[in-house]
Amino acid sequence: MDVPPPQELTQPLQVPSKTLMGPGPSNCSPRVMEAISRPILGHMHPEIFKIMDDIKAGIRYVFQTSNPLTLAVSASGHGGMEAVLCNLLEPGDTALIAVNGIWGERAASMAGRYGAKVTTVEAEVGHDFTLAQIENAVSKHRPHVLFVTQGESSSGVYQNIEGIGDICHRYGCLLAVDTVASLGGVPFLADRWGVDAVYTGTQKVLGAPAGLAPISFSPRAQRKIFERKSPVKVLYWDMTVLGDYWDCFGRSRVYHHTIASQLLYGLREGLAQIAEEGLESVNRRHQECAQRFYRGLERLRLQPFVTDTYKRLPTVTSIKVPDGVDWREVVAYAMKNYSVEISGGLGPSANKVFRVGLMGYNATPEKVDLVLEVLEKALKASGWNRS
Ligand code: PMP
Repeated sequence: MDVPPPQELTQPLQVPSKTLMGPGPSNCSPRVMEAISRPILGHMHPEIFKIMDDIKAGIRYVFQTSNPLTLAVSASGHGGMEAVLCNLLEPGDTALIAVNGIWGERAASMAGRYGAKVTTVEAEVGHDFTLAQIENAVSKHRPHVLFVTQGESSSGVYQNIEGIGDICHRYGCLLAVDTVASLGGVPFLADRWGVDAVYTGTQKVLGAPAGLAPISFSPRAQRKIFERKSPVKVLYWDMTVLGDYWDCFGRSRVYHHTIASQLLYGLREGLAQIAEEGLESVNRRHQECAQRFYRGLERLRLQPFVTDTYKRLPTVTSIKVPDGVDWREVVAYAMKNYSVEISGGLGPSANKVFRVGLMGYNATPEKVDLVLEVLEKALKASGWNRS
């Protein structure tokens, strides 16, 4: 052998326990952790098909849809974004992307790679879009697809989706929505709001490990996919074949790829916990935690980056870094002394904000109080003088 066994691998695996209060991943419940340690099953075993069917029902519930083409792609949230754009866009199609942070920027980059003509409608970082802004842009560009992010986790902005579907359909356009950071924390009604494609991640409110991206396409979007002039550019994302593996078309199941059985168990149990608690109650718990957190920030005289309370995403709050404070020191102190993760900004909000996530298993009053206490101590240790 030219390459010897690596020395590092002779050492025991080190995995510390941390409280994950950044924008994701979040900690999983003991029930989910137990589920992912169950025996591995084959990707074509009947027991796995049953678990996939349970998951499809759970995904339809959390998206509030009856779309037949509903499944989970084997990837993190980015995979959901790739799959939506790759399936809905053909070379030469026009994609209109609502950009008010990193996720819109990323979607624009992806849409271009699939050969779309990319146009954008832009809002300042920390702000949302009005229906009038959206309608102006849709009527001007006449896109095939409009992409909007419900929860812009880089800035902590919540985007209202209700009304956008009607605008899109009046102009013959499909509506695609990113709900990676928002789903479960705020209401999302795919069918009622006329959403044609939606995806999320598993590692936030759904309370499972990262690695699967629930996704759903409306019958209108499904028609577009099946009537494409050219095949979907990436076989791995191609819903016309992946849909058969997940039994979405009532045909026989066919092999597409080897799905990670452990990730399915985790997602199944995360969805089961949401179904047991009830979606409205899960939404309420996240909103109540966010309100408790805002009250704590006020007591500390820290300023949320998003000024209007109703435009804030309850799951991820961005907080202005006070003048004279090095955000890196604060984040490092919280981790070193309390094993609590608090994050800095991302993309356009980098160096300007802290980001705190209150999601899934971590959306409890106790965790809110913990993160406030740790944030205060870490800021004080970094020389912050609350005026
Ligand atoms: N969209 C949004 C709104 C997100 O918050 C994230 C992750 N923070 C993603 C997409 C990408 O997800 P992932 O990191 O799981 O690929």
